[in-house]
Amino acid sequence: MLIGCLRGRPVAVDDGTAYDLSDLLGEPRAAPGAGRMLQMAQDWPRLQVALAPGGLGDLPVVEGAPGGGWDPPMPRPPKVVGAALNYRAHAEEMRAGPTVESGGLFLKASSSVVGPGATVLLPFADRRTDQEAELGVVIGRTARGVAAADALDHVLGYTCLLDISLRGEGDRSIRKSFDTFTPLGPFVATPETVGDPGALHLRCWVGDELRQDAPTSELLRSVPELIAEISAAMTLEPGDVIATGTPAGVGPLAPGDRIVVEIERVGRLEVGVEAGYQR
Ligand code: MN
Repeated sequence: MLIGCLRGRPVAVDDGTAYDLSDLLGEPRAAPGAGRMLQMAQDWPRLQVALAPGGLGDLPVVEGAPGGGWDPPMPRPPKVVGAALNYRAHAEEMRAGPTVESGGLFLKASSSVVGPGATVLLPFADRRTDQEAELGVVIGRTARGVAAADALDHVLGYTCLLDISLRGEGDRSIRKSFDTFTPLGPFVATPETVGDPGALHLRCWVGDELRQDAPTSELLRSVPELIAEISAAMTLEPGDVIATGTPAGVGPLAPGDRIVVEIERVGRLEVGVEAGYQR
């Protein structure tokens, strides 16, 4: 099952049919759009039961979907936590050393999230901005100090994520937090659809060039280990997104580029790139 946001409405897609989750969610607790998906994440323990096999049949079908019009599946996560240097070959290409200890965590601004078909805006003409294709994890249950063995119980699902990164001087969180720097989507694929998050294959093209091509089994810190590490420091809340780190093959973006991220059983995210600076 895939969970998406179609013009502000939470939708489940199963076997190519889209079902409107609005009635199941009940009265909006927050503004439409972004708030509805956050509400969906906060209600995930209840929805997960309601959406168990056979549970979709009673819901209204959204005609004409899926086509265009998909918003990011979590338009404004409470927070986005990134794992730094979480693939050995990428750590080596960054010349930061290949050890696990050189990893660490950082935060990205939620306002940097955009959805499928969006345009990444390059902030500077004279500074390098790279694509980093990553497996994104969306949290569905509050996690505080969880053990790795229990960590996956807190996952709502998985999505394609781009951690767009300005290189060079400056605080890492700011260099990764420009508007449009966190494309997400198109859907959140639920754990029963995805299976083991450490057994997926990730690919990223910029134009015709296949830049990144790696299995998630090469993650230095696995998804459960990341959830344990993060939740030891800060409470992970429903709707939070984890950027699990990028494999080797990051490279500079230029106006006019198209970026495609494809993750096995998770989805295919495509965005454009344009100059955000004054020419
Ligand atoms: Mn990254």
